[in-house]
Amino acid sequence: MKIKSAEFVVSNSEVAKCPKNALPEYAFIGRSNVGKSSLINMLTDRKSLAKTSGRPGKTQLINHFLINDIWYLVDLPGYGYARVSKSSKKKFQKFITDYFEKRQQLVSAFVLVDIRHKPQPIDLEFMKYMGESEIPFGIIFTKADKLKPLAIERHVNEYCQELLKFWEELPPYFVTSASNYTGKDEVLNFIEETNEE
Ligand code: GDP
Repeated sequence: MKIKSAEFVVSNSEVAKCPKNALPEYAFIGRSNVGKSSLINMLTDRKSLAKTSGRPGKTQLINHFLINDIWYLVDLPGYGYARVSKSSKKKFQKFITDYFEKRQQLVSAFVLVDIRHKPQPIDLEFMKYMGESEIPFGIIFTKADKLKPLAIERHVNEYCQELLKFWEELPPYFVTSASNYTGKDEVLNFIEETNEE
């Protein structure tokens, strides 16, 4: 898919105020500093569509961007533990779980993880929550330029092993780098293919 247009539409903190039309949307989420803004800018070929860290931004809001006039890219805030609880859902901010559970237009989410780190409990918990809530998602490994190919393979495998402890099947996953455009076509093709279904 070629990105012909990408424009910021609206930021807000309530799902009820998100755009009302039925355009399909794809949401990007991950811990802060994972490289989400850089990835969004890379995917859309814009230098600063999403605000990268270091600049005060709309990090605690749901940000909608209209792409090619036909789908929304949604930049979600980083997740964290809202309270200590056995239920995985209660560990995440309410407006994030509200977004996933109420937003009918969502085709798929992308959970971003930094490829350099071992699987982190909070990311695994979040993916578990998504699985339990039957919300479709893919995994995007970021910053792949920081590792050599063999290390990339090892880290991805480690992740897959963790996920296979609680699922029989793996979600789709993508290895990306905002620095050298690795994975750009794969992510955009996935969006294009699922958008047509
Ligand atoms: P966000 O907080 O998740 O939006 O993360 P940012 O996009 O602001 O990135 C956090 C930091 O990681 C910044 O210093 C970026 O320059 C750096 N970064 C993001 N993506 C990449 C990448 O693909 N490769 C490398 N080497 N650095 C990256």
